[in-house]
Amino acid sequence: MRVLVVEDEGALAAGLRAGLEAVGYAVDVADNGTDGLWMATEFPYDVIVLDIMLPGVNGFLLCRTLREREVWTPVLMLTAKNGEWDQVEALDTGADDYLTKPFSYAVLLARLRALVRRGGAERPAVLEAGDLVLDPATRRVWRGGTEIGVTARERSVLEFLLRNRDRVVSKRQILDHVWDYDFEGDPNIVEVYVGRLRNKVDRPFGRASIDTVRGAGYRLAGDGG
Ligand code: CA
Repeated sequence: MRVLVVEDEGALAAGLRAGLEAVGYAVDVADNGTDGLWMATEFPYDVIVLDIMLPGVNGFLLCRTLREREVWTPVLMLTAKNGEWDQVEALDTGADDYLTKPFSYAVLLARLRALVRRGGAERPAVLEAGDLVLDPATRRVWRGGTEIGVTARERSVLEFLLRNRDRVVSKRQILDHVWDYDFEGDPNIVEVYVGRLRNKVDRPFGRASIDTVRGAGYRLAGDGG
């Protein structure tokens, strides 16, 4: 098993190298993001341990760039604090898992084993409805050739609608798939997000792809509206 550690804190990098070599990994260390990105692109690692705050290219950008280059090596991102934002962004940039510093080696090794066993993710299929396109791998959305900026939550709603295109989905189904299972807020939040999506993927293009089905929910037209 060959692992790349991208970590600029010398003591932590040395500790990771020693700990991983002790259990049989071949370990390469990059102490900055620029080298890390190059090595991760050039060499076939089984898994990458990636810090976020790095000189050169930061961990978020490194991971996003790897995925854009269609490198699907599993990435375990080390988040600096127990900040929800860091963790969401880690997964959002294409990391497969994250671990909050400080972490125990036992947990790190277990997570790495799980990632290696799972292997590099297959590139998920691009979702399309006519010229409305969502790429789950790079988290990007286009209408025709125009890229559309959407928030993570907006994208999740759109992804669910696209996966169910030409079918009516209820607000409850959208809530259950996009929000936490124990969401206790106002279900009308779904309307708010559908409205935002219409303002982004439909109205500027003179389209109407998301129908409201009275009393039932929403339906995204398979032809993109
Ligand atoms: Ca760092």
